[in-house]
Amino acid sequence: MSYDQNIKEIADKDKRYLWHAMQPYNEQSQPMVVTEGKGSWITDMNGNRYLDAMSGLWCVNVGYGREELAKAAYEQLTKMPYYPLTQSHLPAVQLAEKLNEWLEDEYVIFFSNSGSEANETAFKIARQYHQQTGGHSRYKFVSRYRAYHGNSMGALAATGQAQRKYKYEPLGNGFVHVRPPDSYRRPAGMSTEQFQRFCAREIEETILWEGKESVAAVIMEPAITGGGVIVPDPIYMKEVESICKRHGVLLIIDEVICGFGRSGEKFGHLNFGIKPDIVTMAKGLTSGYLPLSATAVRKEIYEAFKDQADYSYLRHVNTFGGTPASCALALKNLEIMEREQLVERSRMLGERLQTELQELLDHPLVGDIRRFGFLMGIELVLDKETKHPLPLADVTKVIADCKARGLIIGKNGDTVAGYNNVLTLSPPLSSTDEDVDFIVRTLKEVIYQQ
Ligand code: PMP
Repeated sequence: MSYDQNIKEIADKDKRYLWHAMQPYNEQSQPMVVTEGKGSWITDMNGNRYLDAMSGLWCVNVGYGREELAKAAYEQLTKMPYYPLTQSHLPAVQLAEKLNEWLEDEYVIFFSNSGSEANETAFKIARQYHQQTGGHSRYKFVSRYRAYHGNSMGALAATGQAQRKYKYEPLGNGFVHVRPPDSYRRPAGMSTEQFQRFCAREIEETILWEGKESVAAVIMEPAITGGGVIVPDPIYMKEVESICKRHGVLLIIDEVICGFGRSGEKFGHLNFGIKPDIVTMAKGLTSGYLPLSATAVRKEIYEAFKDQADYSYLRHVNTFGGTPASCALALKNLEIMEREQLVERSRMLGERLQTELQELLDHPLVGDIRRFGFLMGIELVLDKETKHPLPLADVTKVIADCKARGLIIGKNGDTVAGYNNVLTLSPPLSSTDEDVDFIVRTLKEVIYQQ
């Protein structure tokens, strides 16, 4: 069979047998079938190369093609492939200890497989914690519109993006949403600082309106990522922390994207000097090489689970969570990040990206550029005065033009609100200087020709 025939056959079988995530099903849809990856670059079945400035789904932090990671998993799989964490194994213990170092505080770690599960675990722990400490009726969670927290019925309920939810309702009960701290779209006449304080105050009001004895926790990402890269002011995060403390509400920080160096710190919340009660993480934990997620719970909360009566301990398990090979691979992944100083590199490359892309703000379609470490959002608008979003078809064209030049970038926002107009960049933290040159050059070429 010729190479071209082979490609066609795989494409046909793909269409027949695979249900793709977040893709429409129609005759025109044609997924890219990837075959190889090295550093920040991937190759598809037709031999085309692309710089993957989205790190897959914001996760391949150490870049593609790391044999060390494959070896770490192989060695563990041959030695001891599986045992549930109802008991224990060495890679899980070592990884939990290492995560404490990265978190710069004392946490107990519950392992799962995905970001969604890490958040579900956090919700269950928060509710049970309150029951065991006298706050029986605390079951609600406050989160922000535009934020994404996962695909399962609880994590999706926490998500503040209606377009992902409305076909699947009713979702989990007890989730309440508040305004995201999107300073770019703040009301006229308010300074950024006033608006950030206003948004934090809305969380406090919501807690009080709901009845503070009914609220278990606030969940938020350090910066809203998938909802269009909304980076809060440190004042906002500090305020949220003290509001939670004041009302006995736990603070859950979702580090699924912002963790593991993406923000220019080990974890996003470390940029703000806050101390979450629970931290959830996934993606960058293994750089996407194997599934693994974690729910890190502050020691004092764990203590409330001590010496509970029979069947009152945390009744929560997942078969594959913290499987030995995933933990061994994650340990190696963190070792690479430390050895190559990828957290520092993330900060440095992020600053460079911002400096070099700053001039795009003079372009009529570029309304705002926002950055959190080596994570960037470029908001495209039709009109800078009204901030009317650029229509989806035009945003999609920018992305297609980048891809035609070998650059993969993302698109995020809030479709229902008409804000699906933010170009997103989240390249591997191991990107070379030349990779960043390529991203900057290509984006400028594409945007200047629109
Ligand atoms: N939280 C955030 C902030 C995310 O971005 C995601 C996934 N993109 C999730 C949770 C859910 O993670 P997963 O897809 O691994 O379930």
